[in-house]
Amino acid sequence: MSRADTLHTFAVENIRPAADTLIRQDGFPHDIWQALGDAGHLGYGLPDWGGTAVDRGTLFDLGQALADGAEVIGFATSWMTHHMVATGVIAPFATGDQAAKILPRVARGDLSCCIAISEPGAGAHPKHLKTRAEKTSSGWRLTGEKAWLTNGPIAGLFVVVAIVSEDAGRKRFGAFLVPEDAPGLVRTDTIHIDFAKPSGHCGIRMDGVELPDDAYLAGAGDAVETVLKRFRRIEDAQGLALSAGGMGVEIRHLSTILPADQALALAGLAADRELFRSAARTLVIDSDGDPASPEHEARLLALRAFARGFQARVRELLTSAMQDDGFLKLLSRDMTELGRVAERVDQAKLARSGAALLQGSRA
Ligand SMILES: Cc1cc2nc3c(=O)[nH]c(=O)nc-3n(C[C@H](O)[C@H](O)[C@H](O)COP(=O)(O)OP(=O)(O)OC[C@H]3O[C@@H](n4cnc5c(N)ncnc54)[C@H](O)[C@@H]3O)c2cc1C
Repeated sequence: MSRADTLHTFAVENIRPAADTLIRQDGFPHDIWQALGDAGHLGYGLPDWGGTAVDRGTLFDLGQALADGAEVIGFATSWMTHHMVATGVIAPFATGDQAAKILPRVARGDLSCCIAISEPGAGAHPKHLKTRAEKTSSGWRLTGEKAWLTNGPIAGLFVVVAIVSEDAGRKRFGAFLVPEDAPGLVRTDTIHIDFAKPSGHCGIRMDGVELPDDAYLAGAGDAVETVLKRFRRIEDAQGLALSAGGMGVEIRHLSTILPADQALALAGLAADRELFRSAARTLVIDSDGDPASPEHEARLLALRAFARGFQARVRELLTSAMQDDGFLKLLSRDMTELGRVAERVDQAKLARSGAALLQGSRA
């Protein structure tokens, strides 16, 4: 049995039976999370720290398997974020000592980490971020506020992006490892997210949080490039796996509630879902998980737009359902809302490449 099959079976047996409750639930299901960790499903990509080595295609298959097996896209988002912060930010940039303190606990599921970039009133636009890290004699002092943090309520560690210096109006950013119990850090609910349950979101306010020198993730260097922009690309690419899994769930549910005259529309959705799944998996493999080149970025943007169009068709089909499937409506809402995260970033990227195309053709 492949790792993805094992995770799918786990999800069908342990999560799907509670799906109808979980998709409406405010609190995080710690018992299921711990069971996932105990079964070895929270340490993918962390072979040096007690977890399991996986290639890009397998990681995609795992995300899809969890979303399909559990049928709760919010829960799958928590799982994906847990892995992305550990393998996409901490493992590549931490020193040996930093990694040894954090990653074995992450791989066991004893610790979750959260990425803290976005700020109220700024989103993730680097120009508008305000959180600052001042150098002190013993380390660093952080002041500022973050919001929208996926897994924030369960995180033991926040990876915080903050301004470390400003030169002629140009901000330079670094990344910091901030434990949840650091004096001066409090969780906030300034911006409330009411979808993708049971995944939790929160903000944090840091009021002169004093950190030792080794809280600085020096290996990340310029955090706008290495964390902010790179994490966005990794998240968007990995998110395609969850979309592929969630689309499969939607088709399954639609097949039980649509009238016979919608057979063609349903078959069209199923065919498009297969096209999407295959193209998304290939992109993740081709780009080694980080679609940074213009060609990979173009494929990523097209797939994300395709997924949003797919959700519009699901919403349309739901209007002709023979019976109400309240669960599918919630799933479709969650898929739609999650597909809108960073849609403005996609548009900014498309606008840039469109302008370059116009300029090129007129040169
Ligand atoms: C369900 C959900 C989960 C979230 N989880 C997290 C999280 O775990 N951690 C976190 O820090 N934030 C998280 N966010 C916040 C999210 O990334 C956005 O910052 C937030 O939703 C605000 O969106 P926006 O459209 O106003 O701004 P943004 O998405 O920030 O976009 C505004 C503008 O900023 C620029 N920009 C921002 N990022 C980039 C980039 N990478 N490359 C190029 N240009 C860019 C673009 O010009 C864009 O038009 C989450 C949001 C949601 C809804």
